[in-house]
Amino acid sequence: MTFRDLPSVERLSAELAELNHELAVLVARQAIDEAREKLRTHPGPPSTKGGDLATRARALAAALGRNQLRRAINATGVLLHTNLGRATLAPSAVAAVEAVAGGHATLEVDEETGGRGSRQTVIAQLFRELTGAEDAIVVNNNAAATVLALAALANGKDVVLSRGELVEIGGHFRLPEVIVQSGARLVEVGTTNRTRIADYEKALTENTGMLLRCHPSNFRVVGFTEAATLEELVALSKRSVIPFGDDIGSGALVDFTPFGLTDEPQVQKSVSAGADLVWFSGDKLLGGPQAGILVGRKDLIAICKSHPLMRALRPDKLTLAALEATLRLYKTGRAWDEIPILRRIKRESGQIDRRCRLVAGKLRKLGYEATVEATFAQVGGGSLPGRMLPSHAVAVRAENLPALARALRHAQTPVYGRIERDRLLLDLRAVDKDEEAALVSAFAPLPATKERSREEGVAEA
Ligand SMILES: *Cc1c(COP(=O)(O)O)cnc(C)c1O
Repeated sequence: MTFRDLPSVERLSAELAELNHELAVLVARQAIDEAREKLRTHPGPPSTKGGDLATRARALAAALGRNQLRRAINATGVLLHTNLGRATLAPSAVAAVEAVAGGHATLEVDEETGGRGSRQTVIAQLFRELTGAEDAIVVNNNAAATVLALAALANGKDVVLSRGELVEIGGHFRLPEVIVQSGARLVEVGTTNRTRIADYEKALTENTGMLLRCHPSNFRVVGFTEAATLEELVALSKRSVIPFGDDIGSGALVDFTPFGLTDEPQVQKSVSAGADLVWFSGDKLLGGPQAGILVGRKDLIAICKSHPLMRALRPDKLTLAALEATLRLYKTGRAWDEIPILRRIKRESGQIDRRCRLVAGKLRKLGYEATVEATFAQVGGGSLPGRMLPSHAVAVRAENLPALARALRHAQTPVYGRIERDRLLLDLRAVDKDEEAALVSAFAPLPATKERSREEGVAEA
């Protein structure tokens, strides 16, 4: 094909009679532009026949209609993987989202009067009951909760924070910078490894707006360390009449110590100890949708609620539906059985081993070299750093591991594992039983004979 053989947009789009006119023109133009570019960069022997252009245009049209944001299988061994969407929702939360997504919803109506209500009333009530706090408010995520709390309560004032908690959470969310952005002044106290309550006390002035604690959730300082306790901070806050804000991060509503996960702060503990305001994520250990939740003193929540930023940070009906359904599982004692992150933490290593053996067997039938190995999974998502959960993984060996991993990412249901040295590990702790079939079918059958054909089979998968 030469430049002169390229059809006009009009002619090619007329061939795509099954598409609507606008789409046909759009993809015809794209296909022709692509072909022209190809001719420019690779002049010479004919590469594209006329008929191929229509095929290519149809493929472009199909791709335009397909969501890039898709369901995926998380076999990384990191249970709350931020890049893979952190917590997955319980079936009742999924149903709640579905119920309000395609129709109107009782988002801001008062069922008694028919007048306007608040979208937050029900959720606040559930958080009051579950945490013992006076009031609660939901925003877009925990970063938003931090910004709102500081902007509403400490604007123009000093915020006292330990040097051991000057954290970066990820995605450029650096607490010292957030404090500045919210109009407060950061007053650092103590050192990276040791901060005592006396350090906070010395830093207090009449301009102090908040005593802040931030759970160091994505790193761990070990060795010669010391931090003021929750009780000491609360006592100092009461003595000095300065609000104490506690960013506890992952929002554990249940006790994880039976699973060896010992230093995860629990919401109820901060509340009952007397923290004035406690905030956390909805999609980490709580196991709900992306959200940030502030619980605490009624008067402080009221100030946050009426801050102009609130409108910009408020959650939508899908989030509130999922969150309400998730909280009802805690309320009705079904959390450990139905909330995926809790079930995955609870899952027995031996059971994961048995499932791995079955999956490995199926992969061997497809021609892969697959075995089972003992591994460690981690909670991830900025929760419980360094705390490992014994687990098992299917270990797949192949000539070209990056090509295999890439093929799995491009499968109909993408599969994400991790490459360690000479094998690809698929940890099944975060993979549910009903996902196993899709995981196996992400592997294209291999001829499993000569190495050469094996490599090609993988690359085509
Ligand atoms: C994860 C985390 C955040 C950020 O929460 P997002 O919901 O991701 O915005 C803030 N603070 C702490 C301590 C965290 O662990």
